[in-house]
Amino acid sequence: MVATILDGKATSEKRLEALREAIAGSGLHPKLATVIVGNDPASQMYVRMKHKACEKVGITSVGVELPADATTRTVVDRVRALNRDGSVDGILVQLPLPTQVDTGRVINAISPEKDVDGYHPENMGHLFLGKPRFSSCTPAGIMTLLSEYQIPVAGARAVVTGRSIDVGRPMAALLLNADATVTICHSKTKDLAEELKRADILVSAVGKPHFITGEMVKEGAVVIDVGINQLEGKLVGDVDFDAVKEIASAITPVPGGVGPMTIATLMENTFRSAQERACDRVL
Ligand code: NAP
Repeated sequence: MVATILDGKATSEKRLEALREAIAGSGLHPKLATVIVGNDPASQMYVRMKHKACEKVGITSVGVELPADATTRTVVDRVRALNRDGSVDGILVQLPLPTQVDTGRVINAISPEKDVDGYHPENMGHLFLGKPRFSSCTPAGIMTLLSEYQIPVAGARAVVTGRSIDVGRPMAALLLNADATVTICHSKTKDLAEELKRADILVSAVGKPHFITGEMVKEGAVVIDVGINQLEGKLVGDVDFDAVKEIASAITPVPGGVGPMTIATLMENTFRSAQERACDRVL
């Protein structure tokens, strides 16, 4: 079996074009504010990519840049100022924050109505109650990709490896909301390979190159690789792509799989926020 490549880049471009048309026809002027603390090159690159996508679809973007030694108080104050700014529809704080900043307090400070990344406990709560408002962009983008390729989720045995707040946990909740039977694995899981081998849908969000080998994958499984790792100067995922593509029925490449879907979802969430806020102004 040779796997279908789940082309996140092409799917994301298609969705961004549809979004561009929807925004142009909406009479709205959505605005996303990004907050970056310090000068981590990877974070700066991600923020640049998000601003570029905004430009593509007709979302105004503003960037708040704070020094690497900013305090929790400074970051929280800037977030609160963006909460009060009526022209801002979405607020994205680029993670990770420097260690002296209390990430939890910063996320809690974001107005849940503008939390387009879906990390605020209130939005996490909605997601886990089965009624998401904003779902975290990476897992929500994966659900969109599965749906675009008409991969059935209801009744499937899904195994998510990783339990972070940005990927693993919300991924598991979204799969459960879509009626999959979900297992979450992590670093303390006993016999990971045995758990993975049962998966119809296998999602890896671990952050270790070539962590998922061919022997861990069931014949015909759908394999979603969230990992972004550097290996010998190349960008690779968590999955040994060359081996696993011979066994899986479908697989996401790295790059060009999950990453572009994350950005498309952020744009969609920002437009949704603008629509809901416009609706609230009328009511
Ligand atoms: P994270 O917060 O570091 O979480 C990693 C998870 O992997 C943890 O839950 C950890 O378990 C688990 N883990 C570590 N070693 C393990 C092992 N040997 N066996 C089983 N589980 C193990 O990372 P993250 O933020 O979720 O990101 C994961 C990867 O996805 C990274 O490469 C990141 O760059 C990438 N990422 C990509 C996108 C995208 O858009 N493509 C978005 C976000 C993240 P414990 O909880 O027990 O420690």
